[in-house]
Order: sequence, then C-alpha cells, then structure tokens
Amino acid sequence: TQIEDDRTFHSTMEELRALAETVEADVIEVFTQKREKVHSSYYIGTGKTDEIKHFIEEADIDIVIMNSELTPSQSRNLSNVWETKLIDRTQLILDIFAMRAQTKEGKLQVELAQLEYMLPRLQGIGTELSRLGGGIGTRGPGETKLETDRRHIRNRITDIKQSLQQVVKHRNQYRENRKRRSAFQISIVGYTNAGKSTLFNQLTSESSLEENKLFATLDPLTRKLSLPSGFHALISDTVGFIQKLPTTLIAAFRSTLEEVTEADFILHVVDCSDEDATQHEQTVNDILKELHADHIPSLTVYNKVDLLEKEFFPFSKPSVLLSALNSQDLDLLKQKIEDVLKEHWEKYNVMIP
Ligand code: GDP
Repeated sequence: TQIEDDRTFHSTMEELRALAETVEADVIEVFTQKREKVHSSYYIGTGKTDEIKHFIEEADIDIVIMNSELTPSQSRNLSNVWETKLIDRTQLILDIFAMRAQTKEGKLQVELAQLEYMLPRLQGIGTELSRLGGGIGTRGPGETKLETDRRHIRNRITDIKQSLQQVVKHRNQYRENRKRRSAFQISIVGYTNAGKSTLFNQLTSESSLEENKLFATLDPLTRKLSLPSGFHALISDTVGFIQKLPTTLIAAFRSTLEEVTEADFILHVVDCSDEDATQHEQTVNDILKELHADHIPSLTVYNKVDLLEKEFFPFSKPSVLLSALNSQDLDLLKQKIEDVLKEHWEKYNVMIP
C-alpha cells in the first residue's frame, strides 16, 4: 500500500487481514515493502516479487490479496509471475459487499461496481482466448472472444444502470411518503463489525412480524422503533464504513451513503473493545462530515462493553456504554435516545412526549 505514515500503514494492513478473515480466508503470511515509488510493471520490486513467488510455491497458497488498487497491467503481470489468483483491496471489499448486500439497490450497486472494475482488466487474456478459435454462430464476423465478453458486460452495465434508476425512483417515493406521514427517521451508522445489525435487530425485535413485513417489502433495512414514552420512529441499518474505502467504491455507494443525510437522528455504533476504536470512530465522523451529515443530532453507542479489558474513555458526547446483547442495556439505550431527542425537539416538527 502507499504509505502515509507507519501507524496508518499498520492499521490498514490489520484491517485488510480482518477483511480477508470476513470472507473466511486463512491468512498465512503478510508481506510488506517500503519503496520510494511503485514499480510501474509489478507495483512491488522484482526482488519482493521473487520472494513471494517462492513462498507461494512452498506454502501452496491459493490467493494473494494486495492492499492497494493495482493497474490492470500490474495485476496481470503479477498473476502471470506468481501463477496464482490475485485480487486487490477493492475486489476484496466488493466481495464482502456482495455477501452482505441485502437490498435490491445494494445488490445492483455491487454488481455494477464489479463489472466496471472488471472491464478494463479483461485485456490481454482475450488475445489468447480468441486464438482458441471457434465460437461459430455466437459471435459477429471477426469478433474475438474478448470483444464478445466486453459487449456482454457493457450491455449488462447498461441494464443495471436502468434498473438502478427505477429503484432510486421508488425509494424517493418511499422517502416522500415517509416525510408526508412525518415519520421520524433514525439511522444507525458505524464501522464494519461494530455491531450495527445486532443492535438493529435487538432494538426492533419486539415490533410485530406483521409490521416488519410491511416495511420489509418497501425497504428491508427499515423497521419501527417504539420508545418508552410511546413515541414511534423508523430506524434503518446502513452500510458499514471502512477506513480505506477506495474512491471508486465511495462513488458507487454514494446514493446509499447519502440516505444518512435524510435522518433526523443518528446512532453511531462503535466497538469500544477494538484496539483501533478511536480511529474507527474518527473515520466514520469524517465520512459523515463529507456527506454533510455531521450537523444531525446523534448519540454515540460504545458497544461490546462485555469484551472491554481496560478502562475506556469515551471520545464523544452524548454517549452510552453498553452491550447490544444485554436486554437491560437496550432499555437504557431507548431511554437515552429519548432524552437526547428531547434536548433537540425544537428542531423537529414533531412533539416528543
Ligand atoms: P455490523 O457489521 O456493524 O453490522 O456488526 P454485526 O452486528 O454483524 O456484529 C459483528 C459481530 O459482533 C457479531 O459477531 C456480533 O455477534 C458481535 N457483537 C455485536 N454486539 C456485541 C456485543 O455487545 N458484545 C459481544 N461480545 N459481541 C457483539
């Protein structure tokens, strides 16, 4: 990876390991290299390339994951030398997003990002495949396998973009309805693995299945939340944030990320037992700022207190320290949400009892 400073470098490498483990890869070895500038053909130096090649052969490695976005030709050159599957950080994150995508929009966004990433990387191998000949009837005159593949991908990209426009239109309608009914909207944000989904499920477990079915058809990640005084809100789970989210992915998921800006209130979940908790919290705050959502009233939920081994000093106010797995803590959280809401109620068009 390109190094900003040693600490950032260390934590993005640790994050890459955690991401790899999310897709159930066994991480056997971690290689790093300090260089003044990247090698134009291999990204890393040729000596390091050889060292890794030997390791791959000896340890019988299935896949190498690079912590940077490689150019199409660097990626081709490396996998030719190593004779192994090679993916970079962006592809790994796309894989995780593909696993986790729950909404139709999310699934389409991931597929679109994957195809757009793949398209320029199809070069090269195509010449060999087309030499294999054949393909009678399936291709136009003189068209190579590569060209056919590219055409299919481009067509699929056009289709997905059209479907996405439809989905966005529907969602806008849903948003409008929500506003017209002046539903109060709470969004859960946080770093990947902080416990957002757990908290979301626990907080909404009492709302009846019927109610949830109704919401599920409109938007699978939104449910009803009842607060102690009887005040009702809609609560949504959002995508997880990641430290070094590649810029191409920020663009691809912007519309999902931007939903946060519609929220009346934000619950920011932080895994306080994580060594890098403060850094993760800061990353999420930076993204909220970038989305212009940093003015929205919020409550920081320091989660996983049961795993905490030393004293913890909250970075933000207002905040609560709890475990999403503890039902008593959840009652306290609902009360705390209501207390914070009351402080801000003039801002809202609704009466909070
Ligand atoms: P998300 O990526 O932010 O949605 O995180 P998840 O809700 O999927 O949680 C990530 C992991 O942390 C899961 O294995 C949860 O069971 C676990 N988890 C969530 N909250 C707590 C907690 O309060 N205590 C403990 N020990 N584990 C938790």
